[in-house]
Amino acid sequence: MVVRLDRSCALVIVDVQNDFMPTGTLPVPDADKIVPVLNKYLDMFASNKLYIFATRDWHPPNHISFKQRGGVWPMHCVKDTQGAEFHNDLKIPRSATIISKGTEADKECPSGFDGTELAKKLEQNGIKRVLIAGVATDYSVKSTALDAVQFGLDVVILEDAVRGIKNNNGAIKEMQSRGVKMASISELKD
Ligand code: ZN
Repeated sequence: MVVRLDRSCALVIVDVQNDFMPTGTLPVPDADKIVPVLNKYLDMFASNKLYIFATRDWHPPNHISFKQRGGVWPMHCVKDTQGAEFHNDLKIPRSATIISKGTEADKECPSGFDGTELAKKLEQNGIKRVLIAGVATDYSVKSTALDAVQFGLDVVILEDAVRGIKNNNGAIKEMQSRGVKMASISELKD
């Protein structure tokens, strides 16, 4: 679908952090392959002075989602560690807003909206449509997209800039059934 970019559009990049890369503790297959595409989106939004948000898992070392606490995930994205840093090649502009999530030990929070100021910041800035990319399609990307739908936003997944832990198809179908749209870089017009 063709998406015309204007001031009501924001880019939301989800969890492009070292621990989710193939060499990280919770690898998402080929997550590093989307970085060059993400940089194109970042450049497009930055050069049009549009809002950019980047979420990150920012967990305490005893986070409830970790196996040592009975969760399903290996330890990942512990705040202030190298694993929690954004991929080194990701060109997040200084103007972008960083959204830290999962910061409390006992709360899961895969969504960028859960326990954060993201919804408030979008509303304050008149954002009506979010374009979402990052990892993992079947976890934090999906949670963030479905929450955005709940908040009444128009939601577009940038399908050439997402990767899943498993196959993307199930997650994409589920999102589409909730009104989420799909687009790729050639369909964005500024
Ligand atoms: Zn996490």
